Amino acid sequence: MSKTQTIIQEFNQYVVPSYKRNAIVMTKGKGTKVWDADGKVYLDFLSGIAVTNIGHSHPSYIAAVEKQLEQLVHVSNLYYNEPQGKLAKKLIEISGLNGGKCFFCNSGAEANEALIKLARLCGNAQGKYEIISMKNSFHGRTLATLTATGQDKVKKGFDPLPEGFVYAEFNNIESVKALVNDKTAAVLIECVQGEGGVIPADPSFLKDLRALCNEKNILLLCDEVQCGMGRTGKWFGFQSYGIEPDAFSLAKALGNGFPIGAIVTNKKIADVFQPGSHASTFGGTPLACSAALAVISIIEEENLLEKCVEAGASFMKGLGEIAKQYPFIKEIRGTGLMIGMVLNTPAKELEQKLIDMGLLCLATADYVIRFLPPLNVKSSEIEEALDMIADACEEFNSTKSGAQADSSANA
Ligand SMILES: *Cc1c(COP(=O)(O)O)cnc(C)c1O
Repeated sequence: MSKTQTIIQEFNQYVVPSYKRNAIVMTKGKGTKVWDADGKVYLDFLSGIAVTNIGHSHPSYIAAVEKQLEQLVHVSNLYYNEPQGKLAKKLIEISGLNGGKCFFCNSGAEANEALIKLARLCGNAQGKYEIISMKNSFHGRTLATLTATGQDKVKKGFDPLPEGFVYAEFNNIESVKALVNDKTAAVLIECVQGEGGVIPADPSFLKDLRALCNEKNILLLCDEVQCGMGRTGKWFGFQSYGIEPDAFSLAKALGNGFPIGAIVTNKKIADVFQPGSHASTFGGTPLACSAALAVISIIEEENLLEKCVEAGASFMKGLGEIAKQYPFIKEIRGTGLMIGMVLNTPAKELEQKLIDMGLLCLATADYVIRFLPPLNVKSSEIEEALDMIADACEEFNSTKSGAQADSSANA
């Protein structure tokens, strides 16, 4: 048995089968590259699903985390620690939510739970508790966040679900308006739907949504878990649209793989959570916050927002050229380095070809191949990836499924 097979056999005996995993054991990462247990190298154009935005094993990230690890890891939120306050200050500065405040937790779902609880608390006195979220959205796997998620597949078997969630059409302001009533507390939205297939919001939709929320005294909550932290070329997705949410959630890339989530609120609702109303034991440990502070410094010092825009443009251009040659590629869409290649045929087979060739990516929403390379991806690595994609598309085109692509399929 290969080393990979031995590890997988033991793993499957003891870990619940809640994921469909590729039969690859990852053991090491450096920059945009990862290595498996048998020494094969991959170009990581997935970043652990938009997590390792500064790449693997960044030296100044390692130094910052190691320093804090030796000094203090955890003391609970019964006491103060300096990194948590510094990180909160930094998040307020880069988000522009002046006068706002942060709450720290450990994951995207937990951050969205905090947004939902905050919205309920804000609306409680007026009997407002309903949250409008979008069809095709993704907000996490806890009971409340899977209920907010606008996809039936994550809900199956988990009845009864919490009350107070309704779903509007993404990019359709009339469908949001139709759901607003005197119980509506908040609208929750991803500025770029990630799991839903890399679908950016229309600028006019978000502007109209902000205006609607202002008019009806409804909170606008952005889920920035995937599109935040530089992924779209701005710190946060909403910054590309010239709107400000009342609060937003973060996780994924905030710690570059060190588990940390957060919500950031505006000034108006900064003091709604009071002692006893919300908590998380691991939230905002000195170690987690030091990791996140290092991530933000690196993005600033290495101009990674600008680099993300440049790298994204050149990758999109290359993908566009490949798309011209293959009718099974319907569209290349996205923003910054959050890019979807939309096919007119199920994307799983092409994803598998790409992984076999050594390019990590992810089929999502059935018909879309999602690419999320690190923000500091090198142009030579983009060239390398484009070569692999071109080869994989050529191979796919010559197989049955590529040739018989269903032109009526809808992504
Ligand atoms: C991944 C994701 C979540 C859930 O984050 P977890 O850390 O897995 O709980 C929530 N919202 C969006 C937009 C995501 O992409």
